[in-house]
Amino acid sequence: MNGDMKRVALYIHLPFCARKCAYCDFVSFPGQTDRIPAYLDRLAREMRSAVGWYGPLAADTVFLGGGTPSLLSGEQMKRLMGDVGRFFEIAPDAEITVEANPGTVDAEKLAVFREAGINRLSLGVQSFDDGLLRRLGRIHTAREAEDAARMAAEAGFSNLSLDLMYALPGQNMSQWTDTLERALDLPVKHISCYSLILEDGTPMKALIEANPELLPDEEIAVGMQHEAARRLAERGFSRYEISNYALPGFESRHNLVYWRRGDYLGLGCAAHSLMNGIRFANTPSLEGYLAGEGAGEADVLSARDVYEETVMLGLRTREGVEAALLPPDRLARLCGAGLMAVDGGRARVTEAGADVLNAVILELV
Ligand code: SF4
Repeated sequence: MNGDMKRVALYIHLPFCARKCAYCDFVSFPGQTDRIPAYLDRLAREMRSAVGWYGPLAADTVFLGGGTPSLLSGEQMKRLMGDVGRFFEIAPDAEITVEANPGTVDAEKLAVFREAGINRLSLGVQSFDDGLLRRLGRIHTAREAEDAARMAAEAGFSNLSLDLMYALPGQNMSQWTDTLERALDLPVKHISCYSLILEDGTPMKALIEANPELLPDEEIAVGMQHEAARRLAERGFSRYEISNYALPGFESRHNLVYWRRGDYLGLGCAAHSLMNGIRFANTPSLEGYLAGEGAGEADVLSARDVYEETVMLGLRTREGVEAALLPPDRLARLCGAGLMAVDGGRARVTEAGADVLNAVILELV
C-alpha cells in the first residue's frame, strides 16, 4: 500500500429494513428491498466520484451500517465488497464490519459474507427477553439471536459484537441482568449497551407519553448501567467508551476514528463524513440519492467547533482529552468534585463523572 495515500475510515449506509422498529428514527426504509440492486449501482458511482475528488484513498476500516445491511443477499454483499475493493485500497488487516439483524441471517449467508471479506459482525440483539423484543418491534426472538451469534462464530466470525438496550419500558433489573448473562455466554468479544432514547415521532415515544409509568426511573437506569459495567468487567471486558465494552484488542477500530475525529468518508443515503476538517452529509431521501443527489451543504468547522467536538467525543472514551486543552479552573473544579481525573496529561471522567457525562461536558464547552 502506498504510504502517502490518504487514509480514511469508510462507512457505507444500507438503509433497508424488513420492518421499522418502534423506537427507531434512523434513516431506514421498510419494504424496499427490490431497490437494493439500483442502490448498489448508485453506491459504485459514488465511490468512483469520491476517488475522483479526493484522489486514491486507503481504508483501514470499513463499516457497513444501516438500516439492516444483512438484508443484502450473499451475492449482493459480494458485489458490494467487490466494488469497495475496486475503488479503495483496503489494508490487508482492515477491520471490516457489517451490522446484522438476527432475523435476517442464516449459516449460508454468513459464510458468504465471510468469503466476501467481512471479518467483524455486529449483531443487533437489544434484549434476550421475548416480551421486550416484541415491545421494541424487533423481528427476531431471543432464541434466534442466540442462534445467529453461534452460527456467526461457526462461519468464522471470531470478532463478534452484540448491541444491547436497557432502560426499556417495563424492564426490570433481573430482565437486564439475564440479558447480560446470556450475552456473556455467547462467543462475543465486544458488547455495546445503549440506554433507550425516546425519539420524536416514534411509536415508542407515543407509548411512553400515554403510559409514563412503564419507563424505569433515572435511578434504576443508572443502576442498570452500573450492573453492566460490573458484570462485563468481571468477564474481562473493559469500558473503553461510555456505551462500549471490549475484550483486550477488540475495541472497534472504526468507531475509535469517529471519537478521535479522524477522517471518515460516508457513502450512501444519509451517510455523514468528516474529511479534511469539513463535515457533510448525503441526502436522507432514498429517491434523491438514487436519482444522483450528492452531499448537501458542507460545514467548515471553526476552532470553537473543533474544541467542542473534541471534548464531547473525547470524554466519552477511556482515552479522554488532552488536559491542556481544557479551561484549568473548570477542570480543577470537576476534579475536586470527583467527576474528572488527570493522568499523564490526559483528562478523563471518573466513574461518577460517567454517570453525569452530559453535565460534565456542558461545564467544559
Ligand atoms: S433494524 Fe435497526 S435501522 Fe432498522 S428499523 Fe430496526 S432499529 Fe431501525
